[in-house]
Amino acid sequence: MSAGAYDKLIFELSSPGREAFSLAGADVPESDVRKILPEKHLRRDAPALPEVSEFDVVRHYSRLSRMNYGVDTHFYPLGSCTMKYNPKLNEDMARLAGFARLHPLAAEAVAQGALQLMHELARDLAEIAGMDAVSLQPAAGAQGELAGVLMIRAYHRSRGEKRTKVLVPDSAHGTNPASTAIAGYEVVEVKSLPNGEVDVDALARTLDTDVAAFMITVPNTLGMFEPRIVEITELCHAKGVQVYMDGANLNAILGITRPGDLGFDVCHFNLHKTFTTPHGGGGPGAGPVGVRAHLEPFLPVPVVTKDGDAYALDWKRPKSIGKLQAFLGNFGMLVRAYTYIRTMGPDGLRSVSDNAILNANYIMKRLEKAYDIAVPGPCMHECVLSARRQKKLGVTATDIAKRLLDLGFYAPSTYFPLIVEEALMIEPTETEAKETLDAFCDAMIQIAREAETNVAVIHDAPVTTPVRRLDQTKAAREPNLRWTPRA
Ligand SMILES: *Cc1c(COP(=O)(O)O)cnc(C)c1O
Repeated sequence: MSAGAYDKLIFELSSPGREAFSLAGADVPESDVRKILPEKHLRRDAPALPEVSEFDVVRHYSRLSRMNYGVDTHFYPLGSCTMKYNPKLNEDMARLAGFARLHPLAAEAVAQGALQLMHELARDLAEIAGMDAVSLQPAAGAQGELAGVLMIRAYHRSRGEKRTKVLVPDSAHGTNPASTAIAGYEVVEVKSLPNGEVDVDALARTLDTDVAAFMITVPNTLGMFEPRIVEITELCHAKGVQVYMDGANLNAILGITRPGDLGFDVCHFNLHKTFTTPHGGGGPGAGPVGVRAHLEPFLPVPVVTKDGDAYALDWKRPKSIGKLQAFLGNFGMLVRAYTYIRTMGPDGLRSVSDNAILNANYIMKRLEKAYDIAVPGPCMHECVLSARRQKKLGVTATDIAKRLLDLGFYAPSTYFPLIVEEALMIEPTETEAKETLDAFCDAMIQIAREAETNVAVIHDAPVTTPVRRLDQTKAAREPNLRWTPRA
């Protein structure tokens, strides 16, 4: 199949008069139709749909589906994103008619099963994180962050305090400063030590009564557990500062430790990372947010409550930060995450993190000679390499990522965290077999060798993909996603 076949849109395959069906003609006379349907509802012109054969349709979409790169077909080592296997059982449960076809405005009395599921999922997440209450409403980690920071703001205000700053380490994911700024706070960056850990002395100097919160990712974005985290949360609390844990890396600590036990007041969960709901082409995610009891009054409305055996939605919460999201959030994702948690059980969830850590350390060990390691291990569920050695040979982290595509692998995260030069952030997840990890490491080692012997093959990459190197800035700033027919 030529790559050119991918270039055509279904509209461009259209040929007048071609049809993908053979149905008997309508036997209702047009005069009868006109009696039933008012004139204004009748179409005057045929819709501008592509005219194609059934073969055209099936082959076109089958070809497109094979351009899709995902965990169902390939290894996906995208650091910080936890691209883990999405059990098909989750999909079956989310498609049960009672869940999938329930109208979001259905009366509570006929939505008891869905409300029970939400109540139990919130309870389970609270238990996993050592929190007292969880809202399932946010549709992404970033929105969970916004909700968390807004609750912190409401909490300080309820105590008559007007704090104006939020501290964020320089290793943070970009959403942390962004959601903080959207919540109306000034973002103050806290420098990390060379090994990626929080500079506790610098932090202590920055903490004052104008600081509302300290926001930190644990394990941090270098894949390392913050060794002084309890000291940090205590230092913050002594100054009345709330501590927010970015829970994107929860895959590393399930059943091992809990944000609540470490002293955090708020944390979010990325169900599309740790809890196997699909990340999909910008499709729905879910970023529940958990809080300790003192923040519970501020949770977004509505909150699912339980009274005896009956579940209800509580809207009368005068201190609530309000509603964040249409209806109750991305309910289908909640069904998937609930299914996953229930099928894994506590021991299963613990083994997730044990294996995630084992896999990441295996990769780090195998690659430590070929690449510089950002910080000495052992690491948690992901490891960060630096291509600074390869850069001296003219091969950047982007080049390595592109060459990996030709060798059959998705690229790791690149240039994140920002504090590592030419960063390559690799997260294998726990469900990958040793054979897969070895094949990936072999490819990475091959590229390191090519950087010394055959730079051209790296600079030309990718040559096996439907498109070569794109102008990434233009693609992000001027996305052209709509086809318009030629005049
Ligand atoms: C993914 C991620 C986020 C943002 O979560 P979204 O669900 O993508 O909005 C925040 N912090 C870290 C460390 C992440 O990896």
